[in-house]
Amino acid sequence: MPTYPWGLAPAGLQTRDQLVAQGLRPRGPAVAQVMWFSKKTTTPFEPRFARLYEAARATPPKPRSPGQLASLAAAMRARRTCPECGQVKDYCIARSLGACVPCADGFTTAA
Ligand SMILES: [Zn+2]
Repeated sequence: MPTYPWGLAPAGLQTRDQLVAQGLRPRGPAVAQVMWFSKKTTTPFEPRFARLYEAARATPPKPRSPGQLASLAAAMRARRTCPECGQVKDYCIARSLGACVPCADGFTTAA
């Protein structure tokens, strides 16, 4: 894999972070890497590497299909539904409680 010093990589090659900052995601394998020397480590001249991807192949993240959105919405609704009183809350039911706050506190209105 070709290795470039930091700042000298070809313009067509970018790190994942650079692509994400442009609303893109890398596609395909890393084709090269950049190397620089970290100033944060205690060991002097410790090389750091970042993988480079072809910017031309990068694409925006795939939009979620209606089916995916529906299943996400259903999953979120299930997480907001209290198993004790069956009410759909506007918050997620805490796993530690296992029920909505009134139920967990013993104030069950359905009783
Ligand atoms: Zn409840």
